[in-house]
Amino acid sequence: SNMLQIQEVAKGYNRGKPNEIQVLSGINLTVSKGEVVALVAPSGAGKSTLLHIAGLLDNADAGQVVIDGTDVTSLDDKARTAMRRAQVGFIYQFHHLLPEFSALENIVLPQLANGVPEADARARALKLLTSVGVEARADHRPAAMSGGEQQRVAFCRALANRPALLLADEPTGNLDPATSDRVFDALMTVAKDEGLAALIVTHNMDLAAKMDRVLRLENGVLVEA
Ligand code: ADP
Ligand code: ADP
Repeated sequence: SNMLQIQEVAKGYNRGKPNEIQVLSGINLTVSKGEVVALVAPSGAGKSTLLHIAGLLDNADAGQVVIDGTDVTSLDDKARTAMRRAQVGFIYQFHHLLPEFSALENIVLPQLANGVPEADARARALKLLTSVGVEARADHRPAAMSGGEQQRVAFCRALANRPALLLADEPTGNLDPATSDRVFDALMTVAKDEGLAALIVTHNMDLAAKMDRVLRLENGVLVEA
């Protein structure tokens, strides 16, 4: 069944001004539960714009976005924010972990905020850390970890609350190939086990080829690569 459904989404900037730009002109996309989709595109093609619309951080000018059966285009700002917090996980190339908390706490805290009992939250955090091979760093603060370790912790945090939808921008960009494979395997496992739908921006064609589907963003539309 469909977790994310985008229909005829259009988005431009600076409408009516000399620097007007139409970035997305008719995006159609469905990602089903458990499916991991690669998104490839040259810089400036509109990947961030598309991720922000899919992740409820920005509104399209036209078209429809449906997440897990809810048409989010009809929600007010408050409901949209609640939906984003409950349903969407983000991973960026740079991690934004909370510096004053340990790796484990960075993964536990969002779960506590979501009403998960502490013992369950800790168990989930440890399981996720183990899946990407950084369980030995559970009690370290981000500053005491390597960039690759921090990135893996950020991956765990994005999945902490079992989001319906994961949106990632080059999530393995600063990992060595072996670690990148390990994180990717963990992602596929979570997707299949928990019905997570994922849209992953990558320039790494080897990685893209391992995903369920590869889409290319060009000239404002998505095409099968
Ligand atoms: P990508 O992530 O693929 O590099 P973006 O979605 O960031 O692309 O940007 C697509 C185009 O839209 C670029 O030409 C960018 O300069 C422009 N753009 C992005 N955000 C804005 C904005 N807030 N205002 C004006 N132009 C923007
Ligand atoms: P919190 O629940 O901590 O208040 P938010 O609801 O503000 O977090 O954000 C939820 C997710 O959206 C976070 O992963 C955050 O990184 C991301 N996010 C929030 N605002 C932006 C933004 N303007 N640009 C990119 N990502 C954002």
